[in-house]
Order: sequence, then structure tokens, then C-alpha cells
Amino acid sequence: METVISSKITIKSSIDSPRLAYTLDFIFNHFFDCGFDLNPDSHQNLPCISYNNSSSDINNLSIPASSYLSSTDILPDPEAINPDSPAFDIFSFVFYFLSRAEEYDFQSDDSFHRFTSAKSHFGDQISKPLVDIQVLKFAEAIREKLNINLTRRSTFTCIHTVDIDQFYAFKNKSLKRTIGGFVSSTLKANVNNLKDRKNSLTKGDDPYDSFDFLQSQSKDFTSFYFILVGNYDKIDNALDITQNEIKDQLHLLDTQATIGLHPSVSSRNADSVLAKEKQTLESVMNKKILHSRQHFLQLNFPETYRQLIKQGIQHDHSLGYHDAIGFRAGTSNPFYWFDLNKNQATELMIHPLLAMDVTLKKYLQLQPDQAITQVKKLINQCKEVDAPFSLLWHNSSFYEAEGWGGWKEVYLEIVNYCRELSA
Ligand SMILES: [Zn+2]
Repeated sequence: METVISSKITIKSSIDSPRLAYTLDFIFNHFFDCGFDLNPDSHQNLPCISYNNSSSDINNLSIPASSYLSSTDILPDPEAINPDSPAFDIFSFVFYFLSRAEEYDFQSDDSFHRFTSAKSHFGDQISKPLVDIQVLKFAEAIREKLNINLTRRSTFTCIHTVDIDQFYAFKNKSLKRTIGGFVSSTLKANVNNLKDRKNSLTKGDDPYDSFDFLQSQSKDFTSFYFILVGNYDKIDNALDITQNEIKDQLHLLDTQATIGLHPSVSSRNADSVLAKEKQTLESVMNKKILHSRQHFLQLNFPETYRQLIKQGIQHDHSLGYHDAIGFRAGTSNPFYWFDLNKNQATELMIHPLLAMDVTLKKYLQLQPDQAITQVKKLINQCKEVDAPFSLLWHNSSFYEAEGWGGWKEVYLEIVNYCRELSA
């Protein structure tokens, strides 16, 4: 029998819910590109997927439907999302991961109210793209049972992203900050730092000014720069981005990458603060800003995403763990955000983040060579399932006097490895 390639998938189900429609849209329109028909009027002769809680249908591919997608419950029956259980329901499994159900109403023990990797139901397995692996297995079952080959939309690629908390370490700071910095470096007898400060003032060099280097390394990749605008305290401490030198730098970066907002920690639950930061960046860039990533990856469900949507953000890039590398939503493929409390899909597209420089060095306390090994393993996982790998590096994470000696090599190993695998 000849294998049919990517014809529309037919699904028969007594369930008609926003959750099921959302999950099918992700699998058949975004992960694969075949499309689907749910309960079409005439399907008598078409091979189809049957998704019901009644007994299995031997002529078709049967998935046991748990009650999760027809309910408004936040959490599913654990058996439904256990791939080793006979009650395993692939659609509930995918929905559970993408909706980030486990991140609603959790008790945070983190000072930024963040969800930590230890709280994930899937524990150590966050290092694997669990959703992608199960969806590919499902496609295999569709091929065997229905004789339909599904084609993928995505392929392995590197998404190169940079968060700019501070454009410069020394340059373009107010006189008060500059004098204060000099006095503090002298008192601490920090000779390297003092030398760098002097060079910055006399020659214009600055250790955070790695922009030419970042641009030259990322020109083969899709690139983003997320700009912190908030300047209120030690955590939200951006330089004034309306200064001419910074403006010029931003426009230079914009020629090769997408400029996004880096909402401050102070903008949490403060719509007017977020609106102001976005407006400032938009007026500097003379265009609408549609992409965003939270400073410190501070992200709470559903508040943060509701706030972003209200401000007209269409793409968020914050969904990665600050304290672990890996797949926070079980996939690195982009997907729409589903608001569980409203029980409806939204038009905010989430682009998962897989690895951040600070995670490797500060939270996991890896040495440079260990970091290279860990990130290459993660990249291999993406390559295996043909999905994007998204990296976050700060422009400041090359400065040896701040402990980043040896990390430029880590960065280079990562981007070179990605280039090799994308070729
Ligand atoms: Zn930041």
C-alpha cells in the first residue's frame, strides 16, 4: 500500500473543547504541517484518529481520552500524562506541558517568585524534549496504523539571543556613578577594574561593549537583543537608552537582529511601568516592539503573559529555567500561550529558551569545560528531534574582572557547534 504524505488528519471525538482544538492545532498545524479536521461531516472512508473515552476502535488509531481536555481542571489525572500507563493520553500530555499547568498556584521559594526546576513534575527529565519525543512517537503510530506520513515544519537551528541589562560597564554613566565607581575600585584596590575604568574614559574601550563580536558570531542565526529600559534600583539598573551613543548602537543591532523589550523586575504587576518602558524603547527605535523577554526570567502564570498581551507584545522569549538548562515546556518549538484560568487560547507566541550563560556559571556552578559538555548534549537533543536551540548570552558575560574568564571560549564552542550542525 502506498504511503500518503501529509494529507489532512481526521479526528473523531465526542469532546469539543478549546483545549482539544488548541492541542490539535499545535500538533497538526505547527509541529507538523498537515492540518486536521475534527469531526467532519463525512469521514466514513477516511482513516482517522479516534479520541474517546469509550472502548477502542479497531479500524482506527485510538487514543484513550482522559477527562482533562473536556474539563476546566488545572491538573490532569497523573495516569493520563504517564507515557508508561495504558491510560496515556498524548493530547492531555501535550496540553499539560504547553499550558504550564504545573506553574499555576505553586509556592515559590525564590526571591523573584520564579518557578524553579526542582518543582517540575518531570524532574531530571526536563533535559529532554519530552513533548517532541512523544509527538514523534505518535506520528510513527499514525504512519503504521493510518498509512499517513507527516512532514515537519521545523528543523534544527540556533536562535541567538542577548539580554542587554547594561550597555556599558563604565561608558555613558552619569558623573555621580563614574566618580562613585572610581572611589569604590580604589578602596577595594581592584587593579584590573581600575585599569579598565581608566581605559574606558581615555580610549573609549568598554568591557561590556561586545556588540561587534556578537554580531559577527551570530550573523548566520536568527538573532534577538532584549533591552532593559527600567532604571530604578540595583536590579533594574539600565543606562539611559535615549543617549545618542546607545541609540546609534541599537540602530546598528537592529540592522541584523530583532530588538525586543526586557521588562524590568519592577514592572511585575505594574502595567503603567511596563507601558512606559515599552514606549521609551519604541520611541528610540521608531517602531512597534513585538518581542519581549523578562529581566531575571521573572515569569508568573497567568499574570505576566496577560500583562504582555495588554501591552501589545506578540512574542515572549522568557520560558526557560533560570536554575537549569533544558525544556521547561517539553519542547523548543514555538507555540501559542493558553490561558488556563480563562480556558482559552491566546495569540501570544512563546519561544522557549533552552540555555542561559548565568545558569551555567552561577546556578549550576559549572566550570567552562563542563558547561560546554552540558550545552552540547542539549544541542544534540534538539538536533535529534529537529527543533530549534535557543541560547541566551549577555553582552557583559565576557568580562574577566567580573569572573567571566574562560567563558568567551564556552560561547564560541556553542555557536560554532550550532553552525556545524546547521550546515
Ligand atoms: Zn536581564
